Amino acid sequence: MSENFRAVLISGGDSGHSAEVADVSPAQLPEGDVTVRVACSTLNYKDALAITGRGSVVRSFPMVPGIDFAGTVEESANPDFAPGDRVVLNGWGVGERHWGGLAEYARVKGEWLIPLEEAFTFEQAMSIGTAGYTAMLCVMALERHGVTPDSGEVLVTGAAGGVGSVAIAVLAKLGYRVVAVTGRPEESDYLTGLGATRILPRSDFTESGKPLAKEQWAGAIDVAGGRVLANVCAQMKYRSVVAACGLAAGMDFPATVAPFILRGVTLAGVDSVMCPVDERREAWRRLATDLDPALLESMTEKITLDDCIPVADALLDGTVRGRVIVPLT
Ligand code: NDP
Repeated sequence: MSENFRAVLISGGDSGHSAEVADVSPAQLPEGDVTVRVACSTLNYKDALAITGRGSVVRSFPMVPGIDFAGTVEESANPDFAPGDRVVLNGWGVGERHWGGLAEYARVKGEWLIPLEEAFTFEQAMSIGTAGYTAMLCVMALERHGVTPDSGEVLVTGAAGGVGSVAIAVLAKLGYRVVAVTGRPEESDYLTGLGATRILPRSDFTESGKPLAKEQWAGAIDVAGGRVLANVCAQMKYRSVVAACGLAAGMDFPATVAPFILRGVTLAGVDSVMCPVDERREAWRRLATDLDPALLESMTEKITLDDCIPVADALLDGTVRGRVIVPLT
């Protein structure tokens, strides 16, 4: 490849934070043994933090954000990949420490790539994206700790967001009764369309609560952290499990140990970034079977590379529904 290509480029450091869509030369691509023609990327919560500078996500400048992408291998010096292979990437510090997917090309280490399941088009893969793959890791964490559809209701916070939307769809397809927590009651039809059986207002979870409350949930997937997570833990059933993956309500955790030591509740942390390859592949395999692809369209908004900068603010303000994908070809 010799031609310049387009990328979102973040500048920072002493000169101040800014983001623009720029023309980039292939010579500027970082080191890596596989170059991918990006077919589709996405705008995740972390990308929005990077683009707006509202969170210290970016480790070096200039940086191309984009913690995930799907595309076709263009050049490869890695024996596991050949030109033409369809691949997907999630995490590994891409878009934070290493140039990411919000660009027409990306150069990465082959070991970070996994072959894209045949079931998915590039756009479907990115409608799932890191948010959906993380939702699947959360479901797998609940299963690993023994939660089944017969255990009782499962709570999902941040329900109308990316992780929440996919979590609801997967849990419902697996036969769970899913209770969705949202700050957007106007999205109730959307959430029941994904498979939620009941909807609770976010405000039920935002006040300072008791260390232990009425036992209600057999499992929970929490994207909020902060007081929301503390209240979720206080409402968990005996020996139930909370998969915690996010901090949309805050990094703090103003809780007591009561749910853990008196009710045997397990708090299972979920990280998608450095997750071992076998578990990633398993999560993508499961997504190919346990998520109804027809639902992806209702949870996906398409934007252009140029839109990423204004939409990043909206995403952090919690006004974007579901997933935001950025087709590049
Ligand atoms: P989105 O922005 O798509 O969704 C977040 C949702 O959280 C919002 O839609 C909103 O849902 C809810 N929310 C927003 N603000 C608050 C608040 N103050 N209190 C409670 N809920 C709130 O983000 P994603 O779904 O992509 O990501 C969710 C979280 O998970 C983020 O913190 C992200 O960083 C994290 N994450 C972590 C990963 C990991 O590897 N651990 C991987 C991917 C994401 P509603 O309007 O329905 O209430």
